[in-house]
Amino acid sequence: MTMRYLTILGSTGTIGVNTLDVVARHPDRFKIVALSGQNQIAKLAEQCRHFKPKYAVVLDPARALALKTALAGLNVEVLYGVEALERIASLAEVDTVMAAIVGAAGMRPALAAAQAGKRVLLANKETLVMAGQFFMAAVRASGATLLPIDSEHNAIFQSMPEPYSGNPAAHGIRRILLTASGGPFRTRPVETLAAVTPEQAVAHPNWSMGKKISVDSATMMNKGLEVIEAHWLFNARPDQIDVVVHPQSIVHSMVEYQDGSVLAQLSNPDMRIPIAHALAYPERVATGVPWLDLAKLGQLTFEASDTDRFPCLKLAYQALAAGGSSTTVLNAANEEVVAAFLDRRIPYLTIPKILGRVLERLGGQPAASLTELETIDAKARALAIELIAAR
Ligand code: NAD
Ligand code: MG
Repeated sequence: MTMRYLTILGSTGTIGVNTLDVVARHPDRFKIVALSGQNQIAKLAEQCRHFKPKYAVVLDPARALALKTALAGLNVEVLYGVEALERIASLAEVDTVMAAIVGAAGMRPALAAAQAGKRVLLANKETLVMAGQFFMAAVRASGATLLPIDSEHNAIFQSMPEPYSGNPAAHGIRRILLTASGGPFRTRPVETLAAVTPEQAVAHPNWSMGKKISVDSATMMNKGLEVIEAHWLFNARPDQIDVVVHPQSIVHSMVEYQDGSVLAQLSNPDMRIPIAHALAYPERVATGVPWLDLAKLGQLTFEASDTDRFPCLKLAYQALAAGGSSTTVLNAANEEVVAAFLDRRIPYLTIPKILGRVLERLGGQPAASLTELETIDAKARALAIELIAAR
């Protein structure tokens, strides 16, 4: 049993809190070295009192001061800013980094962990959608261990041969089957989708998650981002990745082999399971999640995905096929339209419309460096904001 020393980027979010839940069950295995949060200072302070990290990071000096005050008397060094996030992601005394910041803001810190050769537990799928090529190159160059936290990709990882060479054909893999719950609007009459509110969109039937990923699940952009994520993680072509709707969220994804075998990972829908898998890998630890009772569940159902109802899924495949920085453009514009929808500045059906327009105008450009990608990301945000304001 190896003691693991952890940094959690985004410890105040849903994934962060679930990670700390697993860590708290195994104090003999996991020690928290650093935590980070954006604006939930009271929650971060409470986590610091409980887990006694050496470092806590927030985004700006005002919040750092508030956190310092809240932690008076405790031996926690409070830092702020993106550079501090990169620093706690690459500390020599840390071997494992949970990358659980939401959105493109999580990319630089996750990349720092990869460059430092850490065990990177990647929840922040936007890192791969925005900068998959550069992130995967950093993992290879440093020899970092990359463990997917997204439940689907964790399931695929568990259903893959070990060690996986990065070449599906070499292992007789035909297809990756990503399962999707279909979100809250899977059966809602299409003609009523125009009236969808933010409250309805964030009310996911099976998972309790942050707001951004909940809206992404409602539009199925989340599944689109996950197709792109699977492409980078497993080096699979878009035509080797299919989506199948599975409303119960018990089968978390599957790998189909040339002989017709399909391997899957099943569990109750609780993020502590993929988190614990990655934390303890290759060992296994208890999570406190109830055992899966298949007889009680009775049936698992599957259906084809409906791209008329969910145009965002189609846009993600298109962006992946277009290559270059197209998925960066899609991700950046998506963050802006989701924020606008949550603020009631645009209606639900405008989300895919604006994304389609931004992709049309800015998709397909090559990007030779991370800095170029960040410039394209900024342009896509600016255009999305302009289209949001213009409607
Ligand atoms: P969340 O909104 O609950 O938490 C986000 C965390 O990031 C918080 O700690 C917040 O303080 C921090 N943060 C936000 N903006 C920041 C910024 N600009 N700089 C620094 N920190 C910032 O989100 P979540 O649901 O925990 O999701 C986190 C990531 O995990 C996302 O990329 C999401 O796609 C992925 N993910 C989540 C789930 C889930 O079940 N929640 C499942 C799969 C993947
Ligand atoms: Mg997922």
